[in-house]
Amino acid sequence: MSMKFSIFSIELRVTLKSKLKLNKAIFLDRDGVINKPLFKRGFGDHPFAPNKLENFLIYQSAINFVKKIKSKTDLKVYIVTNQPDLSRGNLSFKDLSRMNQKIFDNMPIDGIEYCKHLEISNCNCRKPKPGMVMKIKKKEQIDLSNSILVGDTWRDIFCGLSAGLKTYLLNKPYNQNYFYNLRINSLNDLTKKINNLQK
Ligand SMILES: [Mg+2]
Ligand SMILES: [Zn+2]
Repeated sequence: MSMKFSIFSIELRVTLKSKLKLNKAIFLDRDGVINKPLFKRGFGDHPFAPNKLENFLIYQSAINFVKKIKSKTDLKVYIVTNQPDLSRGNLSFKDLSRMNQKIFDNMPIDGIEYCKHLEISNCNCRKPKPGMVMKIKKKEQIDLSNSILVGDTWRDIFCGLSAGLKTYLLNKPYNQNYFYNLRINSLNDLTKKINNLQK
């Protein structure tokens, strides 16, 4: 009987310890947050994802932000991005992995998760669904209630909110009509909001 009890208390301690090890994270959308989106003639101010490496231009503000966060905090930083052009045949996996490599070469990001599906595939990963966030949460022990998502479209906002993240919309000319008030003008603004900047 006492043997059973001690085994139970060991298990309990292990559980508590693993809970203490949860990581906090920032989830970033890619196009419009990390890199410049493209605009096509005849599509108004609707942003598109670049599908060639030469059009994949990373914002200096994103580089500065991730470097600062990784050097001053112990937050994890992940990119979660819808890339349906993979399914449309407009983007090759080779080009996507070149873009990912360019990101890793420019900033100390912890990981990139992408969804290759179209809306009609009804997968669990395409934003606004929270599948990509939940996958990372499970793999990397993320405390979602103390984590953040930043995006520039309603799909990002819905994804972040349904994952239980504090979710910020990065102000852009093309998202001004959103009825959503947690906005930031720049990633630099977010740095200021993040306390715990010291390791
Ligand atoms: Mg975007
Ligand atoms: Zn998907």
